[in-house]
Amino acid sequence: MTRPAEAAAAWLARIPEDQRIAAQAATDWRFAAWLSGGVILLGACVIVSRTDLLGRVRLALEAERPRPWLTGAAAGCLLALILAALKALIDAVTDSRTAEILGAGDGGLARQLAHAAAAIAPDVFAAAVLAPPLLWLMRRLPRTWPLIAGSLVTALIVAAVWLPYALSVGAPTTPAPPGPVRDGLVRLIGATGIPAHDVLLATDPAVDADVSGGFGQAKVVVGPGLAAGPPAEARAIVGHIMGHYVRNDILIFSLVMGMVMLLGCFAVAGFAAPLARLIGAKGVASPAEAEALPAVAIILMLAVSGAWLAGAGYLRWANVRADAYSLEYAGEPDGLASVIEQEWDHESVDPSPFEEALFYTHPALTGRLRHAMAWKAAHGG
Ligand SMILES: [Zn+2]
Repeated sequence: MTRPAEAAAAWLARIPEDQRIAAQAATDWRFAAWLSGGVILLGACVIVSRTDLLGRVRLALEAERPRPWLTGAAAGCLLALILAALKALIDAVTDSRTAEILGAGDGGLARQLAHAAAAIAPDVFAAAVLAPPLLWLMRRLPRTWPLIAGSLVTALIVAAVWLPYALSVGAPTTPAPPGPVRDGLVRLIGATGIPAHDVLLATDPAVDADVSGGFGQAKVVVGPGLAAGPPAEARAIVGHIMGHYVRNDILIFSLVMGMVMLLGCFAVAGFAAPLARLIGAKGVASPAEAEALPAVAIILMLAVSGAWLAGAGYLRWANVRADAYSLEYAGEPDGLASVIEQEWDHESVDPSPFEEALFYTHPALTGRLRHAMAWKAAHGG
């Protein structure tokens, strides 16, 4: 083994081997559960389509005259109820088994089920509110609706993910107390040229560190844990987060997700009707029909998965860059390795490429430690 690889292995060895093995088993299980869950949800859409469940809802509601808004709401609710209930069941089984593998507390299925079931009502409500106007838009503007709906979704993602970050909405803070951690971070602000005026201390112990902002200003926050620890660790992690700030990673991540959802809307416009006919709704001519909803749901689920894969892929790349930024400006490879290890989320330390693509927003632990140790060796460490 080369010297950096040995150093990385030494960092990795600080995590007990049984924990690393359990993490691999948990990641393997979650991957299998995700695939099976996807097949179950897609299968449910096919069954709803083949049994013409939504067509029957339409016939019952439209016996006297067409009521597209009411039918859209009812069909959307029913399909959302079926899919959200299945999703809650899949999530509960996935999470309870994961907790069991990791030996983490009470993985009880009943408790997980109650937790997951809380998402059903909001999903059904959202379908009731969103399906009728979306179907109306599809009927009114069959060509341009994907652009309108996709742009709205993108704007919503940016507003929900990036805007709070740009406005530095977060836990309450006070000025950080004087000391080596504060001094180290003030030097880091000077070295990077980040437009922050002070180092702030979050009063919430759950806060680790944060660098947020936009529009030419930045807010640098450390949590109480980091503030009381070694300055090298605070500098390493804050340097990493500064890397995200400098590269606008949160905005780009939001836009990447939004763009894939926009493509998803165009895919619904182009493929939902033929897909609906393929899975049993023979008479469907437009994605705006109630009977086309299962096909619309299939394409939207694939689009959401695609948006996540693209967003996570961007973040993995951005996190390599943020680690490099931290090493360049903070120059604390051991601090970075230590923080990376402390923040380990009990995912496999060396996953398969498929597992990494699906579950990881940061490169796996082994690769990140190697990167830090390679930098250390190259800089005389
Ligand atoms: Zn990061």
